[in-house]
Amino acid sequence: MNKFVVKDVIINENKIKYNYEIIGPWKKYFDSKKEFEIEYTIDISQVPVSICIIPLVTDILPISWIFDAEIVLEEIDKNFYESIKEFKKGFINMYPTVKFLGKIRVEKIVDNTYDVSEKVGAFFSGGVDAMSTLITHKDEMPILINLQGSDIDVNDIDTINNVKKDILNTAEKFNTEAIFVRSTFKNIIRHRIINLYISPISGDNYWHGFQHGIAIIGHAAPIAYLYRMKRIYIASSFTKEDKVTCASDPTIDNYVKLSNTEIYHDGYNYNRGDKIRNIIKYCRENNKELKLRVCFDEHNPENCCRCEKCYRTIFEIIANGYDPRKLGFNYDDSVFKNIEREFNNKIMLGHTKHWNRIQKTFIENEDKFKGDNRFEWIFTYKFTTKKTAKKWINKIYNAVKKRVKKYIWRK
Ligand SMILES: [Zn+2]
Repeated sequence: MNKFVVKDVIINENKIKYNYEIIGPWKKYFDSKKEFEIEYTIDISQVPVSICIIPLVTDILPISWIFDAEIVLEEIDKNFYESIKEFKKGFINMYPTVKFLGKIRVEKIVDNTYDVSEKVGAFFSGGVDAMSTLITHKDEMPILINLQGSDIDVNDIDTINNVKKDILNTAEKFNTEAIFVRSTFKNIIRHRIINLYISPISGDNYWHGFQHGIAIIGHAAPIAYLYRMKRIYIASSFTKEDKVTCASDPTIDNYVKLSNTEIYHDGYNYNRGDKIRNIIKYCRENNKELKLRVCFDEHNPENCCRCEKCYRTIFEIIANGYDPRKLGFNYDDSVFKNIEREFNNKIMLGHTKHWNRIQKTFIENEDKFKGDNRFEWIFTYKFTTKKTAKKWINKIYNAVKKRVKKYIWRK
């Protein structure tokens, strides 16, 4: 039988280290050379083991369900433990083709009940979603929680430090503080190998579809406990209309309890355009500049202004009548020629839903772009999905194949 046996939880000032043993055939999906360690920028030595175990449990729960494994623990927080069956339902409903089995064997269930304070937290990466959530809840002055080792590699110290500087700057602008968490949680799982198993049966990869949501949330447990936080916001990336599978979803996140702290999947009713308008409105009203970090280049602390996501965000800000340079994008006008060329040469495909929305906003604000030849193309361009492009390529390929066959036959 597959088992994950936690041997020891070592809590030392601001660090947690887990010692564990993995038993059974599912072992191949874990990287045995990687250790699971977490470092906080606050002292967590007073946080009980039953809370400090939560980041580990949230990280391995989905894999334990998929491979019907038993997690063996000494102790766990009562409210969190009881919430597991509730947020598990979110996964079960999301993936009807996957069986969610597994169980937890725990010796001691600990009641850590506390009266919550007025403090709230918000996961913060610096992206459009997180910035919009911060602005929406600015009056609650959420403590920003940044998890390093999620979208940025845990060993990429330069990028981590540069992003950290920007987040501290943002925290200052909103009269709040930021707590940084550095964790190797992502690296203990061998994604390439598990994806070969899970992607064909679920239609999503392990990190995006199963792991990242609750694993990220779990890392806030010691912080929630120390501050007796009322609520922690995690910004949504999608809306209901998107109809996508994703490990971070209101049907999962909103059911997680970190002892007495609740989780709120924020902004699910707003699309990326709405969130960009929310950010622009705040900057205008408060005469402030903010720095977004949206880039697909995970080793770049700045926005590269060369990737699809940078292009897309620059265009959506412009479509809404604002200057992207006031939101952390440093580029010269050659960027517009590059975008147009890449679309015309079909180098950029996909994300059609976003580009169609951006085009609609340009059309709505057409008067403002009259005579500006940098944007002329976008008013009539037909955006193509990767799927359609693949169909074209196959059609051309088959036609060529047919002709070649005919030719050989004649000969
Ligand atoms: Zn970029």
